[in-house]
Amino acid sequence: MNHISYYAVYLVPFLVLAAFYLRRHFKQHKISSEIWKEAVESGLTEPPTLHPDFNPALCIGSGACVKVCPEAAIGIINGKAALVNPAVCIGHGACEATCPMKAIRLVFGTEKRGMDIPQVSRNFETNVPGIFIAGELGGMGLIRKAAEQGRQAMEHIAKRAGGGTDYDVVIVGAGPAGIAASLAAQRLRLKFVTLEQEDSVGGTTYHYPRNKIVMTAPMNLPLIGQIKVREISKESLMELWEGVLAKVPLPIRYGERMEEIKQAAGGFEVRTPVGTYRAKSVLLAIGRRGVPRKLGVPGEELPKVVYKLIEADQYRNQHVVVVGGGDSALEAALDVCAEPGTWVTLSYRGAAFNRVKLKNRKRLDEAIATERLFLMLESQVVEIKSKKIKLRIGDAVKELPNDAVIVCAGGELPTPFLKKIGVMVETRHGT
Ligand SMILES: Cc1cc2nc3c(=O)[nH]c(=O)nc-3n(C[C@H](O)[C@H](O)[C@H](O)COP(=O)(O)OP(=O)(O)OC[C@H]3O[C@@H](n4cnc5c(N)ncnc54)[C@H](O)[C@@H]3O)c2cc1C
Repeated sequence: MNHISYYAVYLVPFLVLAAFYLRRHFKQHKISSEIWKEAVESGLTEPPTLHPDFNPALCIGSGACVKVCPEAAIGIINGKAALVNPAVCIGHGACEATCPMKAIRLVFGTEKRGMDIPQVSRNFETNVPGIFIAGELGGMGLIRKAAEQGRQAMEHIAKRAGGGTDYDVVIVGAGPAGIAASLAAQRLRLKFVTLEQEDSVGGTTYHYPRNKIVMTAPMNLPLIGQIKVREISKESLMELWEGVLAKVPLPIRYGERMEEIKQAAGGFEVRTPVGTYRAKSVLLAIGRRGVPRKLGVPGEELPKVVYKLIEADQYRNQHVVVVGGGDSALEAALDVCAEPGTWVTLSYRGAAFNRVKLKNRKRLDEAIATERLFLMLESQVVEIKSKKIKLRIGDAVKELPNDAVIVCAGGELPTPFLKKIGVMVETRHGT
């Protein structure tokens, strides 16, 4: 073979392949860098829960993790995998399983932001004998895993059943973990009651955005059997939970928020604003969303004050104040101000929005420019009346006409409550 044919046979295909590889590499790098830049500019660089930690020494940038991530949280930067959109990561874990180089481990918290995880044994029991934890509160997110933990925890709780209390167990929370635990309790013929602060089952799944595509895996629900779903819309998932309850009626007390747990003879007293339940064991399946943070101002108890936007069109032709400085506050204000005839004021105590998506910031600027929305930075609600609201801005107090208040001031995490009842909590920084 002469020199020219040698080049044609070996070098040309090599160069073509190399060109394809480099083109793909630069394209991936460019897209991922742009996503990361937006996350940095939005101040959304910390993952909220379990997330992948990449070992750059092992990662070969195959992109397998990028392809399987249902939330598009991972990208490739400089040929290595990276968490480029940390705020959307829900700890799916498919990335870890799929990495051909075993370069991913799932961890809680980061160097900058610690994550509180209660200490639980293999039986899901905390250091307080009789208090059990299942689901996302224990750090294990995802619908299937939460449900599986709820089921398993109940099998351990059943071993302690009996005695002089009214109930063998009080289950707190009716999200995936609480539903599966309640079904297991029913199957094991335990005396139990399930407390749910909201008016529906589903927990976090009930609050997913409309039409969200939920990625999950087949799960085994006691008394129901295998639920073979992998991809399902939020609405169909809610129908699925309702179908489960129609098939197996469960003693769920809706609208009852557990406020206190006290040690008592033979077990615990679980208090809600409605009653006291005495039980041998308590299963906390309360997730990590916590309770909405309140403003603590006179008039907050009025029915016109809510902590979540349900339907924007109910505020047509009304004066609405939205309180908060995160994405949920901005999105609520923007949705309401798009309704005909609304006057929306967005009140935030900070001087600027530091941790919101760029897209929302741009939409907000547009809405302000067209005078559909009024922004009051460095303002605080001081009093709410039936037809008015008072806001403090610097030393001045301003009174505005008002028909509704939507407070989106974040949630109070369950950690202080856990510590109060004696459960040991560990702060993880990337372990
Ligand atoms: C935006 C988003 C998207 C997600 N997408 C997916 C996905 O595609 N696939 C997936 O597998 N997972 C997904 N997840 C994660 C999944 O929703 C959670 O891991 C799962 O719901 C955890 O279940 P849980 O039962 O432990 O807690 P939760 O679902 O949070 O349920 C806890 C329940 O306890 C109740 N509760 C809390 N405190 C009290 C109290 N004091 N008294 C009475 N009741 C109380 C709450 O009202 C709630 O109903 C997503 C999460 C988010 C935020």
